[in-house]
Amino acid sequence: MKGHISMVDAPDGYTGEGFFTTKLSDVVGLARKNSLWPLPFATSCCGIEFMATMGAHYDIGRFGAERLAFTPRQCDLLMVMGTIAKKMGPILKQVYLQMSEPRWVLAMGACASSGGIFDTYSVLQGIDQIIPVDVYIPGCPPRPEGVLEGIMSIQKLVGQESIRRRNSERYKELMQSYYIQ
Ligand code: SF4
Repeated sequence: MKGHISMVDAPDGYTGEGFFTTKLSDVVGLARKNSLWPLPFATSCCGIEFMATMGAHYDIGRFGAERLAFTPRQCDLLMVMGTIAKKMGPILKQVYLQMSEPRWVLAMGACASSGGIFDTYSVLQGIDQIIPVDVYIPGCPPRPEGVLEGIMSIQKLVGQESIRRRNSERYKELMQSYYIQ
């Protein structure tokens, strides 16, 4: 059986005989969104669900995001999955800080997003208390389809992001609100 391979859509632009023009931001966004390098920061059961998403059936490689790495220097998508204890908070923030810009954050599951069922003194009630989050995936645990939906939401953000956004006053204010220089 022949596999069906789709091409990604070209960005908006002007075309004519032998030429095509578009914005630099759109070309960079197209490349970035189809080559995300995730860093899986998995501490508990949601991580197992992510492993299923990596498997042949759901195949996250179809989204160009199968190149995982555990070194923050190489990654641009921090995927936080599982319960984050308050003691783990500074380590998570350090990992985030070691990632170079542009970087995006995905909170997978109820625990990473809000503390989940662990409304206790020792558990961080959502990672957005210490780092900015771009996309939240609901569920306990989210199904692999939910994880893929989250990846596609990140892709949409990445594809539409201006290459100048990280230099904007608004972005600097966001970083300052997290005490990040
Ligand atoms: S959200 Fe549910 S499945 Fe995910 S880490 Fe928390 S308890 Fe486990």
